[in-house]
Amino acid sequence: MSEFWHSPLKRHGLVRSRHDLRQRIHELLDTVDLSPVEDFYDKHPHQLSGGQRQRLSVARALTVNPSFIVADESVSMVDVSIRVSLLQMLGGLRDRLGVGFLFITHDLAVAKYFAWRGRIAVMYVGQVVETGLTPKVINEPEHPYTRALLSAVPEADPLLTREKQRLALRSQDIPSLTALPSGCTFHPRCPLFVEGQCDVVEPALLPIGENHSVACHVATGQVVAREHAA
Ligand code: SF4
Repeated sequence: MSEFWHSPLKRHGLVRSRHDLRQRIHELLDTVDLSPVEDFYDKHPHQLSGGQRQRLSVARALTVNPSFIVADESVSMVDVSIRVSLLQMLGGLRDRLGVGFLFITHDLAVAKYFAWRGRIAVMYVGQVVETGLTPKVINEPEHPYTRALLSAVPEADPLLTREKQRLALRSQDIPSLTALPSGCTFHPRCPLFVEGQCDVVEPALLPIGENHSVACHVATGQVVAREHAA
């Protein structure tokens, strides 16, 4: 592992001697809770578990003292049983070291857990359809896609899951990125679809309140959804 770390630390002038190098590696492994550090210092990647490799990836990112880390699906490949400990470790780094995170995930429950004190942006086929402070978006979702995602998140209590109203989509098919639908790209699946507007005009991402923006003709009050029309 020491060779593995050698290059970035030396290239960025962050260590001056082998002693500094070893000390810095020790600190970084300890920071990501790979301990006892001595057990990991000389290991190769294939000798580590999935969770340990994820921690090591974070430690590598920390070698250059970043102020910002892009974490793309950083907990999706690990067993659920260690997912929480990884999220806690990342959250601890964020709070302790003041590192900013762009945390990318397909799991809204994970996004909610990690970004509760931050902002969230919900994307559909490559575009942001809703963004705002996380508690606002999670508790008061306005875009039909966000609402559908949230209604699909299982609750710890099975009774709550059963009571949760699922937002029934008109279709389960996700469009091809090379042949996107006209107007609002979500319109072939949207239960609030308004013919003549949603399939023609692309909705802009507009503010609907403080720190809350949505790209939806209905949510922004430009048209009335068919099921609510008189
Ligand atoms: S613009 Fe229309 S189709 Fe798109 S999300 Fe809003 S209601 Fe649904």
